[in-house]
Amino acid sequence: MNSKTLDVNENLYQYILDISLKEHPVLAELREITAQHLAAVMQIAPEQGQFMAWLVQLIGAKKTLDIGVFTGYSALAIALALPKDGKVIACDYDPRVTDIAQTYWKKAGVTAKIDLKLAPALETLDSLIANGEAGTFDFSFIDADKRNYINYFEKSLTLLRPGGVIAIDNVLWSGRVANPDDGDKRTASIRAFNQSLYEDSRIALSLLAIADGLTLARKL
Ligand code: CA
Repeated sequence: MNSKTLDVNENLYQYILDISLKEHPVLAELREITAQHLAAVMQIAPEQGQFMAWLVQLIGAKKTLDIGVFTGYSALAIALALPKDGKVIACDYDPRVTDIAQTYWKKAGVTAKIDLKLAPALETLDSLIANGEAGTFDFSFIDADKRNYINYFEKSLTLLRPGGVIAIDNVLWSGRVANPDDGDKRTASIRAFNQSLYEDSRIALSLLAIADGLTLARKL
């Protein structure tokens, strides 16, 4: 018997979806539309969206960050899981994708819960800190440019309350992080980011081999 994570082939992956995925119809529709988009690979997996929705409910989150909106799947999954007075501060600079996001947020009836900040995310995070909102957020999802992961993480950590959770996407980068011959800049950024979290005593750490790798960091 082997206790390491299973290799999930197509059959097993389909089984996981069939036996556990309960996707809101608007999420399903958004996922199908996004699959036709050129950068569709940037969309998170549906079971990952469901997991994060489950997580924000587990920690009783109300105030959350979505860093890297793309077509809005993660923000929608989380907004649907939040209580009525919950909030997602959604950060992206590209209106071509956030226009799609807003269409589906509206369709799902969650626009009151999502505050889109159309600007570079670092600027938005800095202005939240400047507004005295440090220590007030419960959850942050980081899924934007990999070069800035460490900066998004630092600012998220400042904005989170103790016990708050940061989830970071793509930390396994299709497995490329473990290939010593892969010298790509983004691979190197993610490797360095993963190493810095491993050495970070301010957080409790867990890395899940779900989708493209999801790190969870709980602020101590
Ligand atoms: Ca991603």
